[in-house]
Amino acid sequence: MTRVRFAPSPTGYLHVGGVRTALFNWYYSKKNNGKFILRIEDTDIERSKKEYEDIILNDFKWCGIDYDEGPDKGGEYGPYRQSERFDIYKKYINKLIDEKKAYYAIYSKEDNTQIIKKSYEYPKEYYNKGYSITVNFKVEKNKKIIFDDLIKGKMIFDSNTYNDFVIFRSNGVPMYNFTVVVDDYLMNITHIFRGEDHLSNTPKQIMLYEALNFEKPKFAHIPLIIGEDKSPLSKRHGGTSVAYFKEEGYLPSALINYLAVLGWSTEEQVFDFKDKIDEFDITKVSNKAVVFDYKKLMWINSEHLRNKPLDEIFTHYMNWCSINNIKINASDNYIKEVIDISRQKVSTLKQLHEFSKNFYDEEFNYEEKYLKYTKKDWFKLLISEAIKKLESSEYDIEKIENTMQSLADLKITGKKNTYQSVRGALLGALVTPGLYESIVVLGKRRVIKRLKKILE
Ligand code: GLU
Repeated sequence: MTRVRFAPSPTGYLHVGGVRTALFNWYYSKKNNGKFILRIEDTDIERSKKEYEDIILNDFKWCGIDYDEGPDKGGEYGPYRQSERFDIYKKYINKLIDEKKAYYAIYSKEDNTQIIKKSYEYPKEYYNKGYSITVNFKVEKNKKIIFDDLIKGKMIFDSNTYNDFVIFRSNGVPMYNFTVVVDDYLMNITHIFRGEDHLSNTPKQIMLYEALNFEKPKFAHIPLIIGEDKSPLSKRHGGTSVAYFKEEGYLPSALINYLAVLGWSTEEQVFDFKDKIDEFDITKVSNKAVVFDYKKLMWINSEHLRNKPLDEIFTHYMNWCSINNIKINASDNYIKEVIDISRQKVSTLKQLHEFSKNFYDEEFNYEEKYLKYTKKDWFKLLISEAIKKLESSEYDIEKIENTMQSLADLKITGKKNTYQSVRGALLGALVTPGLYESIVVLGKRRVIKRLKKILE
């Protein structure tokens, strides 16, 4: 059975590059009726933090990419957190030493890059005397390390370019290249798809697979995401973490949609990622680094924002408000109506909020540009007439259109001034959702209250 995995290290936020790798793994597992495993690689005890693990799990769930086994889900190959697997690693370290494929290295106290002794026996006379002692893997000389990468093609490395490498540190912690091999083997992982930044690790891992007599999985190294300037995508280019996009008001469905089209050519550009399982083909993923296009992501986001069911957008909006500590004092129905008349004109939930927040708040500020209208000599008369008409009007789009037309027909000022004066009095701004819709959604009570307030 196909088994793939996503193995983040909890040393920072969840990066969009990681999510894209996870997505390709997910697609592969779905397409092949396999399983997708999430494993937390937290052996780097100095840099790993539980707090990051929580953020990674939480943000990964927000993305909507589900997994079959993982630290919070369990599964028959657990535990899925490397820090809980130290006993397992020890066993394989000992096996390599017993077979003389790895050795203890004792370092000089003065210069801890200088090995003073190598030993296949446990060097108990050096322990607790201030020496650094590691376990190092012995690299066989003059060997070609060859594998077929599903994206990059045939890869050939020369073992002479590798020195013996540490697999167990002096602080008692096993190293990534070793733990990843043991875990991928024991968890029956059949395919490893990961970022190209790991390509130089793969030969070391292949040497370990061979030394341990483990069957090797297939590999694919996914080209990295870069910024406009061709350097790896980093904070300098804008946000890179899922947390950032979540806070900026992107929809998970849009972010994942964008990551799917990034470096994988599909005809359609806007879709639900779950609808593309049949089309996915790992060998068609671009072999070149791909440039992250923030504008395109925003465009895809606006498409999702406009076309997804209103209830779904409402849920995301409320979630976004709570992440940003924003409280809205209004009924769910009212909020939904406001979203519905606003979402055509914005691209993110953050913009949606900026654009529509005055619907909720009676104490909003009037923008500078609008205050010029309030100083005109016709302004007070116009608003008083507006109050009369809107008090006796019925509130549906057609009726309100007629009411506003009849207000303009009084010719207190021109039509544009008439509409903009009412718009600004109601919402504080001159760019708002359609005026008739806005009036209907605000409803008579709010409309009259707001018009009266501007006359005070
Ligand atoms: N823990 C590694 C990382 O976060 C993943 C390595 C792998 O997929 O083999 O980069």
